[in-house]
Amino acid sequence: MTISRRVQGIKPSPTLTITAKAKAMKAEGIDVIGFGAGEPDFDTPDHIKKAAIRALEDGFTKYTPAGGIDELKDAVIRKFKRDNELDYDRTHILVSCGGKHCLYNSAQVLFDTGDEVIIPSPYWVSYPPIVTLADAVPVILETTEESGFKMDPDDLRRTITKRTKALVLNSPCNPTGTTYTESELRVIADIVLEKGIYVISDEIYEKIVYDGIKHSSIASFDKEIRERTIIVHGVSKTYSMTGWRIGFAAGPSSIIEGMNKIQGQSTSNPTSISQKASQEALDGPQDVVQAMVEEFQKRRNYVIDRFNSMEGVSCIKPGGAFYAFPNFSSYVGKSFGGKPMRDSVDLADYLLDVARVAVVPGDAFGAEGFERLSFATSMENIEKGMDRIEKALKELD
Ligand SMILES: *Cc1c(COP(=O)(O)O)cnc(C)c1O
Repeated sequence: MTISRRVQGIKPSPTLTITAKAKAMKAEGIDVIGFGAGEPDFDTPDHIKKAAIRALEDGFTKYTPAGGIDELKDAVIRKFKRDNELDYDRTHILVSCGGKHCLYNSAQVLFDTGDEVIIPSPYWVSYPPIVTLADAVPVILETTEESGFKMDPDDLRRTITKRTKALVLNSPCNPTGTTYTESELRVIADIVLEKGIYVISDEIYEKIVYDGIKHSSIASFDKEIRERTIIVHGVSKTYSMTGWRIGFAAGPSSIIEGMNKIQGQSTSNPTSISQKASQEALDGPQDVVQAMVEEFQKRRNYVIDRFNSMEGVSCIKPGGAFYAFPNFSSYVGKSFGGKPMRDSVDLADYLLDVARVAVVPGDAFGAEGFERLSFATSMENIEKGMDRIEKALKELD
């Protein structure tokens, strides 16, 4: 075997199987409704595209500093000041090839072999492999639907050992949409400081929040917790820029410097043109974001109402992000034409094969019995998809 043990230890994402299958069906001309996408369905706003075109025309097409251009770092600094009342300088900021890249870099800098990293479940699919690739150990902290998928502080305290290096926090959360309030975060911050661990705070969905919820960053409480937090953020979700590959991190200078070093020896700089576009995204008009969020909120209300009116299904109302995470566990154990639904993967397969609706099995997020549906698709698709799911569930016995 010539493949490294490191890579052999990483499982391919189960989401890929279903996405590939849905794609193949679509290619055959089958009308599949896709709820799998983890990205906004809107186009990147025009003023942002124009900034990229300007950068191209100005010949801004060469290497930049590995960790990003100063103008973009300054725009990021202004963003943290404006939105989170956080004071950073350039030594605290790194620009990377997406938020995911920031997560990867931070894991490489923070973790040594055997370090434990607490990941509350349901979790975003990439957290455990990113931890494993740094030779650290993901420790899953389960949360329940009853608590709105929020960590219990006592559970958190109990899960922390001498080997614990960090907690991964994701508010608003993908896949559950859970948002922590400021007072809940203050309790978590106290535990983090008491135990002397770090927080990797993935705040990529900061701007995609509903019902007037105000996002709170755990780093913003005081200097002590700020020195223990690496914020991971980016333009992908807020500005519908997933393909541009720009994310940014904010944290203690020594950690950011380490991340910069890794980046300098691996990817080098994120795309020069995308950096210029991202600067415009952060500094330019923000009303485009509000319009997108309003549309998401309408869809969310519809999807959640539909799920909660289906027999045997419950679905918490997400406070942020653009996913519904319904509980289908009462359908696990049922069957269709003699074929048993053993788990969320079987159910997702069934929904795809029979109802022609693509969803992502909860298993991928460490939550058996659930499915994730992205409502980043048109209202028309959503209505059709919900009808199909409701009908398909009734056909199980
Ligand atoms: C989309 C996403 C990211 C990062 O996306 P990038 O495109 O790499 O910036 C990070 N965390 C979560 C939870 C996400 O859903």
